Amino acid sequence: MDTNSCNIQTDVKITVPSLVSLKKKQKTTIVKVNGVEIGGSKIVIFAGPCAVESKEQLFETAMSVKTGGGKILRGGAFKPRSSPYSLQGLEEEGLKLLSQIRKETGLPVVTEAMDARQVELVVKYADMIQVGSRNMQNYPLLKEVGMCGMPVLLKRGMMATIEEFLFAAEYILSQGNEQVVLCERGIRTFETSTRNTLDLSAVPMLKNLSHLPVIVDPSHGTGLRWMVPVMAKAAVAVGADGLIMEVHNKPEEALCDGQQSLSPDEFTNLMSDLRKVAGAVNREIL
Ligand code: PEP
Ligand code: MN
Repeated sequence: MDTNSCNIQTDVKITVPSLVSLKKKQKTTIVKVNGVEIGGSKIVIFAGPCAVESKEQLFETAMSVKTGGGKILRGGAFKPRSSPYSLQGLEEEGLKLLSQIRKETGLPVVTEAMDARQVELVVKYADMIQVGSRNMQNYPLLKEVGMCGMPVLLKRGMMATIEEFLFAAEYILSQGNEQVVLCERGIRTFETSTRNTLDLSAVPMLKNLSHLPVIVDPSHGTGLRWMVPVMAKAAVAVGADGLIMEVHNKPEEALCDGQQSLSPDEFTNLMSDLRKVAGAVNREIL
């Protein structure tokens, strides 16, 4: 057979900026969040509420995350909401609660800064700073987190291509910060039955092009509590280095994203399934 006539695509036809490129660095990057390593052989689970609501809510949720095997606590103090009338977050009071609960549970915390002016405050209280989907192309924010000396969780813009996502990460690395974790959280498509379309093919693609660790957010990726576990397992199967999931002590009372938040029991059950899936692809849950 004339192999030249076969249509075998070996190259990805996009531009990969140099600092994030795997081809250039030739080895993968491990991001360290207060002792927790992301990007090695072990898969790291981030979990917690969408928003910090109260001390009791955060403490109870954090304890169930810890007992279930989560390694990093998530929770928003500054919330990017589609409506200005929805909960905007507890701001500095929320950050203080996060740092207090970190002391009580020993879990490092990740939380979002929505604006370059919030970075300094978030750095004071958190272990990792999140740039949300709506801000993936907020270049002043990307530059600021690039200079902040703290690991960054960069979420894919809901309408961003893989190339745009990598260029956003490049902004952070160009300021001297290589401690960046990429997060696939679903993109906008014509589909309306799920909140977003979780692009799991982004995981092998990003890992093929970049040395940065890649995690998946099946909560925002689907918007549906019942679908979170199955997509979480699929994410592990396609090679994700971690998962970030919304868990709430009382999802039915959550002030934000309760419909996609797992209960503590659902989280615990999922963790045991995830261990099996990880084993099947020669990985382990940290
Ligand atoms: C979040 O993780 O709290 C969040 C708002 O997600 P996203 O930026 O992906 O919408
Ligand atoms: Mn949320």
